[in-house]
Amino acid sequence: MDPSSNGAPLSIAAAPIDAAAAANATPAAAASSPTKTVVLVTGGTGLVGQALREIVEADPVEGYEWYFAGSKDADLTDAAAVAALFDRVKPGACLHLAAYVGGLFANMTHRVEFWRRNVAMQDAVMHCCHERGVRRLVSCLSTCVFPDKTTYPIDETMIHDGPPHSSNEGYAYAKRMVDVQNRMYNSQHGHEFTAVIPTNIFGKFDNFSVSDGHVIPGLIHKCYLAKKNGEAFVVSGSGKPLRQFVFSKDLARLMLWTLREYKETDPIILSVDEEDEVSIADVANAIVSAMDFKGEVVFDTSRADGQFKKTASNKKLRKYLPDFKFTPFEDALKETVEWFVANYETVRK
Ligand code: NAP
Ligand code: GDP
Repeated sequence: MDPSSNGAPLSIAAAPIDAAAAANATPAAAASSPTKTVVLVTGGTGLVGQALREIVEADPVEGYEWYFAGSKDADLTDAAAVAALFDRVKPGACLHLAAYVGGLFANMTHRVEFWRRNVAMQDAVMHCCHERGVRRLVSCLSTCVFPDKTTYPIDETMIHDGPPHSSNEGYAYAKRMVDVQNRMYNSQHGHEFTAVIPTNIFGKFDNFSVSDGHVIPGLIHKCYLAKKNGEAFVVSGSGKPLRQFVFSKDLARLMLWTLREYKETDPIILSVDEEDEVSIADVANAIVSAMDFKGEVVFDTSRADGQFKKTASNKKLRKYLPDFKFTPFEDALKETVEWFVANYETVRK
């Protein structure tokens, strides 16, 4: 997959990224050989994991084998289960996507669980990578980690500059600790643990729960129900907050690039450009259009707006991939809405 185009054949060098590490590692990491890297993808059943799976199945990457793990494979909050998973899969690299994830309203309600589950998962996965000699680990932060009171655009150097927005502090502080833990393992043990910082993600296989999902899947589901029941389409909050949305397929291609090509251990923001930031009202209108909804749209200002904006700079990403083309927002949204409608009975909701 050429990272600068949507769907062109892969033209990245095929050398397995972790061959040296695998060769030097403890025997348990030996399933990855100098010619083959087994990549354990935690969260392999989720929004990003499924997008990555589609990409590598359509366009196999020479020298790589993939293991997409869901929670049925192992409860990653349980360190013993994580160790058993690693011993079964014997990865040479790990993409740690699994997390307890939810939208603004889930974060406001379950802040303790967002902290505890995410810290437990990342601690167990990271330590298991260390113990099993898996030196290449890419984890996922989120732009929620950045300080609430800050200057814009936000960049990778600003993660710990002040408290995050209070609405999602459990999730934000847990994810910040990934950055801290990466630094500690790298400096003490010479690993190559790193992390990406995606902005808001959407696409097929998202969680379309109206109560707990992120704004795009939540609003797609609400608009679908409003159309079906002949009711108003109710958008939470004022519609004024701003967000940068990245399509799961684009993000999966960038994650693949990160795993194979990104050599820094400092994190990197994976985002559309600043000028592609849109308001929640823009999002609602795009959903109305994609869903061909003809009814009334109402903004429920009694509900929270959350953080007004978290405009992130993708300058670092653009330094590496100046020509990367993101899928236009309307096209990506239309594809997601069509998939949701076609699969309504079985989607996560
Ligand atoms: P998602 O669709 O909600 O999927 C979560 C994944 O984590 C699923 O595969 C789930 O497995 C797995 N998981 C959850 N709890 C687990 C547990 N206790 N043990 C094992 N597996 C568990 O998440 P996503 O949106 O793809 O997010 C991927 C990564 O991107 C996460 O690290 C998230 O924090 C980050 N991120 C997401 C967004 C966003 O807008 N979605 C934005 C920025 C960053 P099962 O489905 O099999 O239960
Ligand atoms: P955030 O980006 O981490 O804040 O998370 P979300 O993806 O949940 O987006 C929250 C923003 O979308 C806030 O401004 C909400 O007021 C707004 N919003 C509007 N309707 C909805 C909805 O149905 N669900 C969610 N999660 N947010 C909504």
